[in-house]
Amino acid sequence: MLFRFLFSLIAVVSLSNFAFAAKAESPNIVVIFCDDLGYGDLSCFGHPTIRTPNLDQMAAEGVRLTQFYSASPVCTPSRAALMTGRLPIRSGMCSDKRRVLFPNSGGGIPASEVTLAEGLKKQGYATACVGKWHLGHLPQFLPTSNGFDSYFGIPYSNDMDRVNDAPRGRESFWDPKVEYWNVPLMRDLEILERPADQTTITRRYAEEAVSFIKKNKDEKFFLYLPHSLPHVPLFRSKEFEGKSLRGLYGDVIEEIDWSVGEVLQTLRDLKLDDNTIVWFTSDNGPWLTFNDHGGTAGLLREGKGTTWDGGMREPSICWWPGTIPAGQVSAELGTTMDIYSTSLALAGAKLEKERIVDGYDLTESLKDKAKSPREIVYYYRGTQLMALRKGPWKAHFATQESYTGNNKRIEHDPPVLYNLEVDPSEKWDVAEQHPEVIAEIKAAADAHKETVVVVPSQLEIPLPK
Ligand code: MG
Repeated sequence: MLFRFLFSLIAVVSLSNFAFAAKAESPNIVVIFCDDLGYGDLSCFGHPTIRTPNLDQMAAEGVRLTQFYSASPVCTPSRAALMTGRLPIRSGMCSDKRRVLFPNSGGGIPASEVTLAEGLKKQGYATACVGKWHLGHLPQFLPTSNGFDSYFGIPYSNDMDRVNDAPRGRESFWDPKVEYWNVPLMRDLEILERPADQTTITRRYAEEAVSFIKKNKDEKFFLYLPHSLPHVPLFRSKEFEGKSLRGLYGDVIEEIDWSVGEVLQTLRDLKLDDNTIVWFTSDNGPWLTFNDHGGTAGLLREGKGTTWDGGMREPSICWWPGTIPAGQVSAELGTTMDIYSTSLALAGAKLEKERIVDGYDLTESLKDKAKSPREIVYYYRGTQLMALRKGPWKAHFATQESYTGNNKRIEHDPPVLYNLEVDPSEKWDVAEQHPEVIAEIKAAADAHKETVVVVPSQLEIPLPK
């Protein structure tokens, strides 16, 4: 009897110790996610005239990730991958007919997916989504139905809901007015404002983010801050008008940079900086067909919508003072799905075994300059695997340029091959010299396809009448 009592006492004590240890060690998690930001759009990634002092400082205090990818070259699938840790083909969050969800879409992120917020919520985190969601705008798909305690933002792209009397074609973008796009600004399930005043949207997202951090400073928290910008139409507040040498697009980036500074300074002021991991990245590359209203992928080829590296490699920074050594530049491979797996691992969550998760826990490679566990990057356009990167080698099975204009898909058999570490601009096809690499990549693609069970697309479901 006594033995049994002592045993259960020990069990209780060790369990509570464990709970305490997990709580003390798990950091707060912040993910700042831009929309259509190009690889070359930050000063710390080489832009000559856009000034991003806060992001530059973040990079100086953390690690700049130079080979970090999103999982898709367009919004909805890319966001689905970040939120589920899975390639969008596995969740039905991609399509060959519709690139993304629209206001007339009736689908969204399936309830069967375990979102990053749901996983962290289970570990006791307070959760907030501030910004562009784009994983379904019906109540059952919004952030508050997917593990977030609260939501504040525009639920889809800022160029949707265009009003009938706005100038046609691209005219409305060159001199954008708030009233041309009747997009809602929501709090949880309610519409607060319509059209959303987009000129102050970056500022208001920053204020909302700062207030969430302050409110939850004594809790573990997860803040997901997906900006609506620099997706066109471009807007910035009065304070940033005409500020950048890069024009309107530069003003927008410099305001986003300011907002990153607000978030980081709040963490420093509250002495939470050494217990918070902050990621900065983007959903896809720059929308090049919008000329100077789109960004630049720097030395990478092409941009948004394509599976050339400019469409999916993002300017990425990870910051966790005291844990991630300052001033690193890492060329290790990573993807936004790894943010999912890394975050859940840091929170002490166990992943379900029966579900395929495509992310890796990058904690050790961020901390110790160890090798990343990721060796492969899959490049999907809709449901087609267009290219595969293994180590430095990227083979394209098919290529297609940006979405507008006459851009036919070209199938390549044998594939074209680039060594991305020698040739980041994908200029010199070396397939002929490396048949063994082609064979290896083809085998990896075949093995991957075996794991994919195609499910019906959520993007093709119409809005119920
Ligand atoms: Mg986007």
